[in-house]
Amino acid sequence: MPTYAYRTTQEGERSGCERCRAPFEIVQSMKDAPLPSCPSCHGPVARVIGAPGICTSSTKSRVSDKNLKRHGFTKLVNEGGGKFRKI
Ligand SMILES: [Zn+2]
Repeated sequence: MPTYAYRTTQEGERSGCERCRAPFEIVQSMKDAPLPSCPSCHGPVARVIGAPGICTSSTKSRVSDKNLKRHGFTKLVNEGGGKFRKI
């Protein structure tokens, strides 16, 4: 059976308990509904999606035009007719 990681959805110092303040893992069947609350403190929890999901947004910001220049890259924009313009 797959293991799912959960973490409290409450923010701040007093969020959740010792168990759900850090992601904790629960073995669940794929047919089971997502866990709605922490088994210890019954506070609201949400499934933590693995690292690849978190990386998506940071990868996008890393390849913005501004960052390309900072890293010494030049972006060529296709203006049509085989012409490229440096930006
Ligand atoms: Zn808890």
